[in-house]
Amino acid sequence: MTRVFNFSAGPAALPESVLATAAAEMLDWHGSGMSVMEMSHRGKEFISIADEAQALLRELLAVPANYKVLFLQGGALAQNAIVPMNLLRGNTKADYVDTGEWSKKSIKEAKKYATVNVAASAKDSGYTTIPPRDEWRLDPDAAYVHICSNETIGGVEYHFTPDVGDVPLVADMSSDILSRPVEVARYGLIYGGAQKNIGPAGLTIVIVRDDLIGQALPTTPSAFDYKTVAEADSMFNTPPTYAIYIAGLVFRWIKEQGGLEAMATHNAAKAALLYDHLDSSSFFTCPVARDCRSLMNVPFRLKDESLDETFLKGAAERGMVQLKGHRSVGGIRASIYNAMPIEGVKTLVAYMKDFEAQHG
Ligand code: PMP
Repeated sequence: MTRVFNFSAGPAALPESVLATAAAEMLDWHGSGMSVMEMSHRGKEFISIADEAQALLRELLAVPANYKVLFLQGGALAQNAIVPMNLLRGNTKADYVDTGEWSKKSIKEAKKYATVNVAASAKDSGYTTIPPRDEWRLDPDAAYVHICSNETIGGVEYHFTPDVGDVPLVADMSSDILSRPVEVARYGLIYGGAQKNIGPAGLTIVIVRDDLIGQALPTTPSAFDYKTVAEADSMFNTPPTYAIYIAGLVFRWIKEQGGLEAMATHNAAKAALLYDHLDSSSFFTCPVARDCRSLMNVPFRLKDESLDETFLKGAAERGMVQLKGHRSVGGIRASIYNAMPIEGVKTLVAYMKDFEAQHG
């Protein structure tokens, strides 16, 4: 068996030991005689799996007791509608910060439900920056302020938690959740699809402060009303059981690695290797401003873009896949989530040096 270094932006690489555990437990989970996939979500076996997953996630992120952790379906894009439906709470206005493709999608969807004020935008920089907090024009009467903490396509990431006063801060953390410690209490709500740092696609995580739930728009589907879901402990309807099980294994793996502090150190080391090389080369360039470069998704360009395909082909021959930039921006993108070992990044940088020596 040969495993590749998978630089996919998501669904993305998972820790090999997690996959091995899942394989070993596939036919008979802990003597139950069943695969987790075959279990009733209301049976004692699966309830214990879901409870452990939730407990580990709470422990990793040190989620305060007055926050609910919800396991939902629908992905982050569904949350773009579900968040305003739940959090407007009789208000009609919401603030959004526009930092790239994913925030633009959030804004577009929110406009179906709310009067959206774009409090700041990085459009003028070609989405290579995060607008400094002192330039945001927030509406003190907004129901919430929405940010995307890491733009998976553009490769910009917040390296600060914006202070937005008493208005709840909402963050789409799909692509940097669990990559570093986060002070959950600074947020009203955090959401993310699982398929980057957590597990298989199909599971969506929502962490929401108690006082913000219970006033959803009457038209909110019951399965997406946070209060209904919270009261049923994420079992209002059938949750994505297998994805929750794998997420639980990933949470345990993160804990064994030393938790989120250890993840942050590991991720910073990987990103530094790659950015240092990009900055030392004139053959490769990274468009993103230094103070907001993503530690998860590193977009870069070859000086001569006609060499992109040759670069990608050579990478694949060396066991490195999914390095093609998002179709909307082109170029190259290396996604280096928690499960990407440092050897993967070292192999990539060594290949970049060889490629430059040959084609530079
Ligand atoms: N937000 C961000 C930051 C993302 O990276 C993605 C997926 N790449 C999405 C939203 C959309 O997520 P989903 O496909 O789970 O709806």
